[in-house]
Amino acid sequence: MPDIENRLLGTAQEPALVALDAYRKQGGYTALQQALTKLTPAQVIDEVRAAGLRGRGGAGVLTAEKLSLAARAAEEPKYLVCNAYDADARSLISKTLLAKNPHLVIEGMALAAFACGASEGFLYMRSGDAALVETVRGALREAQERGVLGHGIFGSQFELAITLTGVEIGFMGGEESTLIQVIKGRPAKAQQRPPYPTDFGLFDRPTIVLNVETLCNLPLIISRGGEAYRRTGTTTSPGTKLFTVLGPGLPPGGTLVEVPFGTSVQETLREAAAAANESVARAVVIGGMEGGLLPLAQLRTPLDYEPLEEAGTIIGSSIIEVLPQDTCMVRWAQERSAYLAEESCGKCVPCRVGVKRIAGTLEGISSGIGVNGDLALLEEFSHYVPDGSLCGFGVNAAHPTVTAMKYFADDFTAHLEGRCPTGTCLPARTHRFVTKHVL
Ligand code: SF4
Repeated sequence: MPDIENRLLGTAQEPALVALDAYRKQGGYTALQQALTKLTPAQVIDEVRAAGLRGRGGAGVLTAEKLSLAARAAEEPKYLVCNAYDADARSLISKTLLAKNPHLVIEGMALAAFACGASEGFLYMRSGDAALVETVRGALREAQERGVLGHGIFGSQFELAITLTGVEIGFMGGEESTLIQVIKGRPAKAQQRPPYPTDFGLFDRPTIVLNVETLCNLPLIISRGGEAYRRTGTTTSPGTKLFTVLGPGLPPGGTLVEVPFGTSVQETLREAAAAANESVARAVVIGGMEGGLLPLAQLRTPLDYEPLEEAGTIIGSSIIEVLPQDTCMVRWAQERSAYLAEESCGKCVPCRVGVKRIAGTLEGISSGIGVNGDLALLEEFSHYVPDGSLCGFGVNAAHPTVTAMKYFADDFTAHLEGRCPTGTCLPARTHRFVTKHVL
């Protein structure tokens, strides 16, 4: 792939920029200085709007709109949360950005806080990697000592304090309303919206939650300008996107690649040096644990929000996973659904009960005791769960099953006829549960 303009990650040869001096040598913090000394908050938002930046956390909301909403909120103080908690722990995105370039994250947070008028920020991340937490803590300390955080930054009136919050609470830890509850010290349960966090968030004050990768784009946009930023990516989704690629031929933890939005799945796999042909692979999963399947015939699909949605999947956790040739899609969907049923916060019935019913029905089919009516039941639940769920977790939880049934219907038929198409499924149980169907 030719050189990519507006990259977030340095090339493999470049050293990590953990120390503030190293980061400044590469032009770090000049965007913040420029914003604080030459621009108004409204001008920063205008530049982000001109860039067309979309949130990288999954939904692809326009970042400028989110910043504007928070900037317009009348209540004070306002809070900014950097969501650096990868819901799918296999993702390499947050940990790589934080480990290689923590000051880029801090600078992005400072720019967003300035744009919307927040004076306090929370850097929210997984706490499982103690060395990574220490790296981030050290970078925050250095930024404070060197005056790029704190009072009167670059001689301006702007002030910002950042608190590091590390937790390890499973998939739901990355959900926006859940993380606000967690920072407040409450149980990790998603909340009904509206009211939205930009009106009523942390400590009942306006709060903007932005994904770590989204924030890392802000220094680039301010220093190069929104129009220059638009030269990479697509018209609707400018810029680049990071993806964790997992699969045959790759290191066990996978590899991180950065490609312009609109790059096909196939090219991205090539960039990652992942093998994805018929001799080794059966399908590709896009989006992580809640993502959907793409058959190999559809690998030309562009990596962008809308085309992926049309294909039945999501950007989600930005993981591209190559499934081996002998994967039975009934068993695969069952395992994903069983995992998701465990991770549901349990607050609303469609998700708490529905995902379990999907997993249980799939378990019956993969065990060779499925009946034709099970497919209709799965179809029904694949609407009921997303339509009735309170948060994005439930909205996305049926993707594995829906795409498995859409693209690999023969696997389901084979199981209903008493055989596993790849000969890999072992019966998990031998009897059907009798459950009253109440939908
Ligand atoms: S959709 Fe699932 S995760 Fe979200 S609030 Fe409902 S039960 Fe919790």
